[in-house]
Amino acid sequence: MQIVVFDQYRVGVLADASIRDVSSVLEDRWQGTPYAVNELIANWEELRPRVEELAASGAPIAPADARLLPPVPRPRQLFAAPLNYRAHVDEMVGSRHAPDALKADHSPAEIGFFAKGPGSICGPQDSIQLPTWPDRAFHHEVELGVVIGKTARALRPEQVRDHIFGYLVLMDITLRTDGGFQEERTLRKSFESFTPIGPAIVTADEVPDPNALRLHLAVNGEIRQDANTADLLVDVDELIAYASNVVTLHPGDVYATGTPEGVGPIVPGDLVTATVESVGTLELPVEERPW
Ligand code: MN
Repeated sequence: MQIVVFDQYRVGVLADASIRDVSSVLEDRWQGTPYAVNELIANWEELRPRVEELAASGAPIAPADARLLPPVPRPRQLFAAPLNYRAHVDEMVGSRHAPDALKADHSPAEIGFFAKGPGSICGPQDSIQLPTWPDRAFHHEVELGVVIGKTARALRPEQVRDHIFGYLVLMDITLRTDGGFQEERTLRKSFESFTPIGPAIVTADEVPDPNALRLHLAVNGEIRQDANTADLLVDVDELIAYASNVVTLHPGDVYATGTPEGVGPIVPGDLVTATVESVGTLELPVEERPW
């Protein structure tokens, strides 16, 4: 099933090129709020039958008549894995982002994770807005995004799948640091609009193996990144298990699993298209931030 959020934080199911509003399965106090989808996810096992009924019987809304918002507008936490594909590690070695001697047998503890500000999230119909920072480079990164389904604490990798609600396409837009600038990752990756997600959450039952998905990204139609999550150094299960041993993960939390090789600059006027197999395609224009 594909879950979308649209218009005034309505929650919908996207199927057969139509959206069906399923917000009414939620208590009144959650409907039309940015947290509606978090509530849907937290109560999914109980609500799913009614969601399926409404998805089959509700009035169809043409996507052209709706404005799609980020499918998780307000995750409580937004974590991301750095340097999680060998060829991306290799292209970053020599910059201050990758220690020269990064081990080939990467472990979850070595890679750890970093936080992106949840305020950096934007949706499939927004634009990537670059601030005017002269002489600085902003890079694209395509990633598989994981949406947590159940409260998760101290998981072992084999327990992780039961705690995943679904998957989305995610871009981790990044201010690159060189020339002596010392900004930390959190700053460089948390500019407003630097985490496009969507267009929908594809529920986990429709993605049999998140560790075997092709993902690719094009700028103005030219392929820049093309890889497979089979090449993740630390796979989805290990990443989420490790994070859940640091802090409790909550329904609707989003985890960005890392980007493969081929990162490069984007500038205003570009069109960035990111695809993850079985999950979807996100396409956003790049603009100069108007503020
Ligand atoms: Mn990244």
